[in-house]
Amino acid sequence: MGQEVEGSFLKSGMMAHSALRAHAGSVVDLLLDIVYPRECLLCDARIAGQPVRAVCLSCGQGLAWQQASLCHHCGQPRDKGASCPCSAEEKFAFDSVWSFGPYQGNLKKLVHAFKFQKNKAVGRDLAQFLLRSETLGEIFRSAQGIVPVPMHPLKEKDRGYNQAGVLAKELAGAAGLPCFGHALVKSQTSLPQVELGRDARWQNLSGTFAIGASNAIGRRDLILVDDVMTTGATAHHCAQLLRLSGARHIAVVVLARSTQIMLA
Ligand SMILES: [Zn+2]
Ligand SMILES: [Zn+2]
Repeated sequence: MGQEVEGSFLKSGMMAHSALRAHAGSVVDLLLDIVYPRECLLCDARIAGQPVRAVCLSCGQGLAWQQASLCHHCGQPRDKGASCPCSAEEKFAFDSVWSFGPYQGNLKKLVHAFKFQKNKAVGRDLAQFLLRSETLGEIFRSAQGIVPVPMHPLKEKDRGYNQAGVLAKELAGAAGLPCFGHALVKSQTSLPQVELGRDARWQNLSGTFAIGASNAIGRRDLILVDDVMTTGATAHHCAQLLRLSGARHIAVVVLARSTQIMLA
């Protein structure tokens, strides 16, 4: 019983801590580290003194990083040296897609915490780990701006933040690129993708996105950011609109590529 009380106290303390930390500067961070020592979400190691918020450097670097064996046209894993069967049938409006890898294991756990448990710090750490990859470093060096996949305002209000927006802002700040947070808007809510067949899934999203009123991307090479890619339909429709706005090269960067149908 005593342990339970102590446990719940620690838990509420940690929740308050992470809420405070979300708004804290570096000096306050140092003080908070003393009062509430941070632990890695995956391995429980203390992460005080590391330039991370929720995931230790070791775990971040150990995330399944399978760029070499991912198809950069559709984002799906493929056998090394083999051509991906997607190329003949998938015609995406974006040029390439990059991620840590399949939506599974530790990566899934972290994305889940970021997406459904309001742990914004995890998303910001993941964005930093994406930037540390040699492969993606080149993508970011050649880009001229970052655009998040938009979320419907009501959904964003309900969740507290658009996770793609959090990622885009973190990536833009660290890479020194402009973030065009209002280049696109989601004007209508769509049906849950999981309830629909393949063709219906693509139709379902068509028309739900629009070019934002304060769009100023011009003729830039862009990075379109989202948390998870499922069918590719969302990124495809957003990329179509960015092309209409003048975008040249569009690389899609997501945390994970789902290999099965799930909620978009
Ligand atoms: Zn760890
Ligand atoms: Zn492919």
